[in-house]
Amino acid sequence: MDLSYIINELGEERGKYYDAVAPPILQTSNFASNTVAEMRYKMRHEADAHLYTRGNNPTVSILEKKLAALERAEEAIAFGSGMGAVAAAVLSQVKAGDHVVCVKRTYTWTKTLMQRFLPRFGVDVTQVDGSDTANFERAIRPNTRLFYLESPTSFTFELQDLAAVAALARKHNCATIIDNSFASPLHQNPLSFGIDLVVHSCTKYIGGHSDVMGGIVCGSRERIQKIFKAEYMTLGAVMSPHDAWLFIRGLRTLPVRMERVADSTQKVVAYLASHPKVAQVLFPFLPSHPQHALAHRQMRTNSGQFSVLLHADSLEQVDRFCDSLQHFLMAASWGGHESLIFPMSAAYTSQEMKLDLPFNLVRFYVGLEDPDYLIRDVAQALAKM
Ligand SMILES: *Cc1c(COP(=O)(O)O)cnc(C)c1O
Repeated sequence: MDLSYIINELGEERGKYYDAVAPPILQTSNFASNTVAEMRYKMRHEADAHLYTRGNNPTVSILEKKLAALERAEEAIAFGSGMGAVAAAVLSQVKAGDHVVCVKRTYTWTKTLMQRFLPRFGVDVTQVDGSDTANFERAIRPNTRLFYLESPTSFTFELQDLAAVAALARKHNCATIIDNSFASPLHQNPLSFGIDLVVHSCTKYIGGHSDVMGGIVCGSRERIQKIFKAEYMTLGAVMSPHDAWLFIRGLRTLPVRMERVADSTQKVVAYLASHPKVAQVLFPFLPSHPQHALAHRQMRTNSGQFSVLLHADSLEQVDRFCDSLQHFLMAASWGGHESLIFPMSAAYTSQEMKLDLPFNLVRFYVGLEDPDYLIRDVAQALAKM
């Protein structure tokens, strides 16, 4: 299917809605039936029929069809946040007594789900450095049922070899889930490498304007229907029709936004990588990165995130650089129009503290501004450091 068709036409059924170019927001919680026979049919086919908006809403369905097609999946199911999607996908694959192998340095709340939440329900989790597939193999137990991936990972942007990990999982009868938010559905399609379920925080690139929250799970019809009947309907973390409409609008510009973000990021990274006050840039698309070849094998191109390790002797020096930036906003999240930094030093109260990530790490997200404007900002802040 053509990308342009998916984004501009798929699922929209304009003829049904006055030929409106923008799809309708069907802001209704409920749907009526004309006959008992119709109601009976809807109750038996709730995932596909219009009975109640927690189950199926036509505006939300348009988004689900488009995102399924972008991820080359049979189906997709939308949630009220990325974590709603992550939690539903994970819970759909495990039960008490099972074991999960999860990659280290996932998104913070995914880590909490794995470390604090799943153990309460009798599910054990082992966290591994996913850059070596052998670590997954070593962690496998007889009760391992799920490999959970995030590639690139949060903050350090390390990759997992998707084809190799998926093949290993198949061999041991384990399911695989990947959080594909950092790559976006345009730059990496994990189902093509044998991964079973793909999750996105739509809040990031898919929305693209920092004004709406949502999540999506993409996979085979069988797996998505299983989630529909359990986690989706019972936990109820569904997406509102209005939010789905904002995501459909965000999707219209996803290809041009991603192209701009990819180009600008390469320029900003090139500047930082050659700057004497920068010790290292964590970005798999740098030719010197140990996973450069893998990055090109499984991703189409880079997205807008990377981290730098500053040559800094003190917390104050890192803080000075971050505080001096005038155009990069200091914030969590990413994926919108605006460029951001996230200073790891914010998690430190003293330099002697030992956290998982060093105090001199600063995560960057490059948005849609002119890259030269961003480089000038970084240059003046580095000069003040
Ligand atoms: C933001 C984020 C999430 C969580 O998404 P929300 O929409 O904020 O719930 C999950 N994974 C990654 C990689 C993220 O960046």
